[in-house]
Amino acid sequence: MDTTSDRPLDGRTALVTGAASGIGRACAEALAAAGARVYVVDVAGEPARRLAERIGGVAHVADLSDPEAVEALPADADIVVNNAGLQHVAPLHEFPVDRFLLIQRVMVEAPFRILRRTLPHMYAREWGRVVNVSSVHGLRASAFKSAYVTAKHALEGLSKTVALEGAPYGVTSNCVNPGYVRTPLVERQIADQALAHGIPEDEVVERIMLDRTAVKRLIEPDEVARLVLWLCSPHASYVTGASLPIDGGWTAR
Ligand code: NAD
Repeated sequence: MDTTSDRPLDGRTALVTGAASGIGRACAEALAAAGARVYVVDVAGEPARRLAERIGGVAHVADLSDPEAVEALPADADIVVNNAGLQHVAPLHEFPVDRFLLIQRVMVEAPFRILRRTLPHMYAREWGRVVNVSSVHGLRASAFKSAYVTAKHALEGLSKTVALEGAPYGVTSNCVNPGYVRTPLVERQIADQALAHGIPEDEVVERIMLDRTAVKRLIEPDEVARLVLWLCSPHASYVTGASLPIDGGWTAR
């Protein structure tokens, strides 16, 4: 890798899940701009294809809750960004079991399967970067998010285990832990949060989402992508097994 170039990822291939929207799209764009060829993986076919065309990548339309579709994804990735995710807000005693299991399949089982298939390629090249898009909810719990908090805590464990196994092969594995990012996933939550907390929708951002952060604004997807890109840079080869909050001070409390 050329450490002085503004395209430090020339010659590298990155697989980004959930790349058609929000944080995943920002990561795919940032990695492509740094020189990587990007596999744009998403269940949403049209936006995935449009993005792949725009950044010179390759679209892979796959539902990550389907193990067969996951096993059909390319295995020759030097960089994996496990990002695809979904949310469901409900009290635990009313939480639909099928939603709980779906969230574990997409956010835990799929990353495990993807890494199981791609790590041998990274080990053979003696270089690899795994970035798991976790959340503050990988480090802290919030009421009414049992499936999501469970999945993100599991992803943290997977990430640390990969860090230990990958180190002898030049492979790092880290989590990034954003607070609330301005994406469709958050916009979709506002009505559910209002219902669960019994407050008007226009009070959700200030009273629920920004309540615990010191910096009183949502994060932009590109801010998360810059951190992901840094973890893929030559300057970050000693950073592994870490969980990096980008949360406006939420976890400082
Ligand atoms: P988003 O809804 O904008 O994008 C998620 C993408 O994942 C979508 O393109 C969607 O089609 C894809 N996806 C969902 N289910 C899929 C499936 N079964 N198979 C394939 N693709 C699927 O959401 P986002 O906010 O950009 O979230 C991305 C990641 O960031 C998630 O893991 C989320 O938990 C995490 N995160 C988000 C926030 C936030 O505030 N937005 C905060 C912390 C962590």
